[in-house]
Amino acid sequence: MKLSELFLPIVKDIPTDAKIKSHQLMIRSGMIRQSAAGIYSWLPLGFRVLKKIEQIVREEQDFAGAQEMLMPTIQSADLWKESGRYDGYGLEMLRIKDRQDRELLYGPTNEELITQIFRDNVKSYKSLPLILYHIQWKFRDEIRPRFGIMRCREFLMKDSYSFDLTKEESNHSYNKMFYAYLRTFERLELKALPMVADTGPIGGDLSHEFIILAETGESQIYTNKKLLDLKISDFKNDKESLKSMVDTYASFYSATDEKFDQVEFDKKVKKEDQLITRGIEVGHIFHFGDKYSKPMNAMVNSSTGTNTTVQMGSYGIGVSRLVGAIIEANYNNNVMKWPKSVTPFQVAIINLGKKNDEICKKKADKLYHLLNEKKIEVLLDDTDESPASKFKNFDLIGIPYQVIIGSKQAENEYEFKEITSDKINLSLDELVKKIENLYLN
Ligand code: ATP
Ligand code: MG
Repeated sequence: MKLSELFLPIVKDIPTDAKIKSHQLMIRSGMIRQSAAGIYSWLPLGFRVLKKIEQIVREEQDFAGAQEMLMPTIQSADLWKESGRYDGYGLEMLRIKDRQDRELLYGPTNEELITQIFRDNVKSYKSLPLILYHIQWKFRDEIRPRFGIMRCREFLMKDSYSFDLTKEESNHSYNKMFYAYLRTFERLELKALPMVADTGPIGGDLSHEFIILAETGESQIYTNKKLLDLKISDFKNDKESLKSMVDTYASFYSATDEKFDQVEFDKKVKKEDQLITRGIEVGHIFHFGDKYSKPMNAMVNSSTGTNTTVQMGSYGIGVSRLVGAIIEANYNNNVMKWPKSVTPFQVAIINLGKKNDEICKKKADKLYHLLNEKKIEVLLDDTDESPASKFKNFDLIGIPYQVIIGSKQAENEYEFKEITSDKINLSLDELVKKIENLYLN
């Protein structure tokens, strides 16, 4: 892509209503635009990042054996009356009436709908275990939408639902999702800490939130520094290891303010290991047994022929909130640096040559075509702006690697730099190899 052709409405000044750095950056770099309170359009730059995050989330769900499907955004109110949540959900639910006066709603989550699909279509224990998921827009009429897409009203969520015959098997599904979440956040280069959580309106007996550390987070968290040292590569992907992984994580005290208990904290965590900071919730998993399957009659025939109510769990990731969370973790001193796995473009070519500098232009075009052929995603700055303003723009765009082309360089010499480090000089061959090593291996 050439910068001169990219729809990228950059804003020079910090918008006054944007209180945190991710919101500021997303507006300034033209990633999103607000269309109503807490409702946003995703412009090309933001959409590229969103899609990449979504794809990583998808791949890790598939790896865990979950199957992707797609449920609608609009649901029938009748279903929610069956589960008993229609009245309880309160004002966060956007309720709609169609021309026949039928009550509908814009889905804030999908436990009811997936339970209906399951109960109408699965009759035997032989179809279990089953984990289904979709990645779909949700609407919650938040009382105070703020921080851009971090707490908005319409947002993209991945939600999975597990169905099992027994509590033990259901716990295993929970553990598989726990593992999938850690793998997902690792690929996004985020350190997400699982914390025992309240179950809120979803309900149930077991629940973890996944929280990334950030000063601007909405939750106060109390944890053990040693939790940060745990690595998922220490655990294998089989039933026993996954159980011991969840037990290991659970053995460290870690809680958000809702669950915090000072006495327990002091008893379980040595003073020097105590970490009190703030964080952002990026995922939340629930085990809730028969909370929905019972009132909604989701049953299967067991091997002995008896009708058994299934055990369920649900598992959410805030796909769009993750864009903001990644920015909070990586935008420092006015320079953004995207993780390689989700960067909107993989390499920037910044041509500093003057408008009529044919040598610079030829060099830039040659590299641009070479990298495009290798399916590297390149953004070539072919505009006439001043070098200073070009670098400022790229600090906002946040592509982690830059190739700089200028009139003082030798013909086969290219400046390469990681956005936050010093530059090095490379020949064309060396440069292409370097980029291939970064992205294609
Ligand atoms: P919160 O405590 O932040 O209000 P929640 O506990 O109500 O979130 P869940 O029902 O657990 O949210 O939803 C799963 C995930 O969806 C959350 O972990 C979060 O990442 C994301 N999410 C929830 N509400 C919003 C929102 N208003 N804007 C953006 N993302 C959201
Ligand atoms: Mg939650």
